[in-house]
Amino acid sequence: MALLITNECINCSACEPVCPNSAIYEGGISWKLDQKSFETLCNDHFFIVPEKCTECVGFHNEPQCAAVCPADCIIIDPDNVESKEELIIKKGKLDFIHL
Ligand code: SF4
Ligand code: SF4
Repeated sequence: MALLITNECINCSACEPVCPNSAIYEGGISWKLDQKSFETLCNDHFFIVPEKCTECVGFHNEPQCAAVCPADCIIIDPDNVESKEELIIKKGKLDFIHL
């Protein structure tokens, strides 16, 4: 499953550099995948792009963003639930895409 940043986010930016998939963006910033640019998902705080988040599967044993977040505001996204097998496949596809 992908993770989600709630509006408890204090915009500290600690999570963004630890994401192995470059799935985290500052609020108001357009996000990128496969050399295409997409509209921001949130204007008020940092956000996670579900298409790019693998819950750190293939890189780390636990979600790195949630581990460093001082506000504990990174949670499981109930609208983007994926099995471990699906996340492994997703990670494999992202390996061949410009993040
Ligand atoms: S769980 Fe991992 S892949 Fe997903 S946004 Fe957080 S750091 Fe990035
Ligand atoms: S680490 Fe947490 S509080 Fe800081 S920007 Fe990321 S989600 Fe927001």
